[in-house]
Order: sequence, then structure tokens, then C-alpha cells
Amino acid sequence: MSKLNASDLVVVTGAGGFIGGHLVSELRQRGHTRIRAVDCKPFDEWYQRFDGVDNLVLDLREADACQTAARESRYIFNLAADMGGMGFIELNKAACMLTVLINTHMLMAARSAGTERFFYSSSACVYAAEKQTSADVQPLREGDAYPAMPEDGYGWEKLFSERMCRHFTEDFGLTTRMARYHNVYGPLGTYDGGREKAPAAICRKVIQAQLSRSNEIEIWGDGEQTRSFTYIDDCLEGTLLLTESEVVEPLNIGSDQLVTINQLVDIVENIAGVKLRRRYKLDAPKGVRGRNSDNTLIKQRLGWAPSISLEHGMRKTYDWIHQQMTTAGRRQYA
Ligand code: NAD
Repeated sequence: MSKLNASDLVVVTGAGGFIGGHLVSELRQRGHTRIRAVDCKPFDEWYQRFDGVDNLVLDLREADACQTAARESRYIFNLAADMGGMGFIELNKAACMLTVLINTHMLMAARSAGTERFFYSSSACVYAAEKQTSADVQPLREGDAYPAMPEDGYGWEKLFSERMCRHFTEDFGLTTRMARYHNVYGPLGTYDGGREKAPAAICRKVIQAQLSRSNEIEIWGDGEQTRSFTYIDDCLEGTLLLTESEVVEPLNIGSDQLVTINQLVDIVENIAGVKLRRRYKLDAPKGVRGRNSDNTLIKQRLGWAPSISLEHGMRKTYDWIHQQMTTAGRRQYA
């Protein structure tokens, strides 16, 4: 980041999670020396934790905790959220909506701390359901969030918090930047336990099928639903470019490489060198029928868009999950 000096204090919330952990790592690699990393999870559950970083365990639903987190910060990257993949957000709508406490109190704390910039991690789940009913979907443009009918629970909270960012800018002069992430994946994230998303879940299931010799994989839905998946390195690059930009409206940060879930399974099978029997669980949580990112606006405004291929990103993700399951967790999966 050019405008931000290496010695300015940068706060990352949700730093014990997947994207937050990678963001702290990236900021360190870019030479930032004053980073505060905050999460509510105990330290031994953080995916990444670094020496020389002010690591804090705080529950950011609490206003006082947010004041502590934001103190003296110049930039805040607010990534903390109670979230997960479809299996989690369809069954935990109230929990997802309670994340509004984090965003509300973090915005208030940023305002009182005199924070210069506030980055908010929104989601493609803000897009109106009626625009995502076909697998052969029109890529979603930023304007497609309105008239609003987002994903119930999680998506409504994201859309509401986007608007709160906008009004903190208009009414209180706090500079905010908003990204709509589309299915971010990569190593050092959740791959089991119920909060995992499709790319990590499919890697785990393929590895599990091999380790247990079942040679069978369960797929949620009929496998013909479509999505695009964004590799973590593209997510970080877009996040940092957007934060330093002058773009005040929400921008998609998402790959536009559209695949069916069956094609995603093909990719993982190729990486693993196996072919599995597919068992379709038609009553499992599936989300919308089709979703892709339209990258016209991000290209116009930032001169950049995600470009890392799914094949490349999935290989890195698979290798990490394979290593986790065959060393640390071997007994659990064999
Ligand atoms: P993650 O679950 O790995 O990380 C979120 C972190 O927030 C977790 O470590 C969690 O412990 C922490 N957290 C939850 N409640 C908290 C609280 N009360 N106080 C402090 N910390 C709390 O998720 P992620 O994939 O890294 O997502 C980061 C952000 O990006 C989230 O806001 C998410 O909604 C958004 N997003 C992610 C994706 C994706 O595909 N991963 C897509 C769209 C949007």
C-alpha cells in the first residue's frame, strides 16, 4: 500500500480466520510493522498467528472491545463475522445476523478513534435471489443487489452493513471501502466441522474417499448448480487495491471462471488422480442455482480483476488439506 506508511497502525479483525490470517501475512510481507490482529477465538485455533503483531482475543460484538481494537488505528480491515458455507448460513440465520453487532460497533469505534479508512468485507450473497435462478446465469453486476432480496440471514446482514458503511461516510466523513467477495478459497482455512465451503469440502471428501477406500463422494444438490471461486491471492490483491482506491461504492472481488459443482469435482479428482462414484444428496443446502461475478466495474475502476485459475488455486488448496489430513488428523480420517 503506497499511501499507508509502513509504521502506521493497521487493524485486521477476524485475523484468526481464513482471509484475515492471510491478510496479516500479506501486510507483513509488504513491510508493515504495526499490525493489530483481533479475533474472538483462542490463539490455538487461529489459522495463522505472527510474532511482532499485536494479537488480541476480543469479542467484537461488544462495543468496548471494538474501542480497544480500533485504538490509534489508521486503517481497519473488518473481516470478523460469524459465518461459513451454505451448510452453516442456511441453518444459522440469527447467528449470521448478529454479526451486525460487530460491524456496528467497529464502525462506531473507527469513528471515535479517528480512523482514516475502514474496509468492509461484504459478499456476493447480497445479490437478489431472482437474478440467480438459472445455472446459465448472467454474471452479477454491482447494481443487481437492488431491488433487494438477498440471501436470507447472512446476505441481509451484509447488505445492511454495506449501507451502514455508506452512511457513516456520508454523515460522519469516515472513508469506507466495500468488497463483495465471491467464494474465496485457499490453504489455511476451514475444511471440516460444518462451516467449510464447497472447494475445501470437496477436497476433504475426495481425500477422505481415498483414505477410507470408499471411492464414493457425496455431492450436495444435483451438481449442476454453478459458481465462480476466487483464490485467496486474488482476494488479497483486490482488497488492498480497493482499500487504497477512491472507489466509494461496493465492488465485486470475484473470479469470473464459471463452473458447475460437478466440474469442480472433476478438477479435484484430476489433481488427486482418482475417479469416484458420485452420490447426490438432493435435499442438502444448495444456495442459489447459479452465480458468477461481472468484472466490468472492477476493471474500469481498478484496472485489475482476479485472474488466478481454478485449477492452480485448487491444487494449492488440495495439497494443504491433504497434508493436514494425512499428518495432523490422520487417525480421524483414515
Ligand atoms: P472465517 O470464518 O475464516 O473468519 C472470520 C473470523 O471472524 C473467524 O476467525 C471468527 O472467529 C471471527 N469472529 C467471529 N465472530 C467474532 C467476534 N464476535 N469477535 C471477533 N472475531 C469474530 O471467514 P473468512 O472466510 O476468513 O471470511 C472473512 C470475511 O469475508 C467475513 O466477513 C466473511 O463474511 C467475508 N466473506 C468471505 C467469503 C469467503 O468465501 N470466504 C465470501 C464472502 C464474504
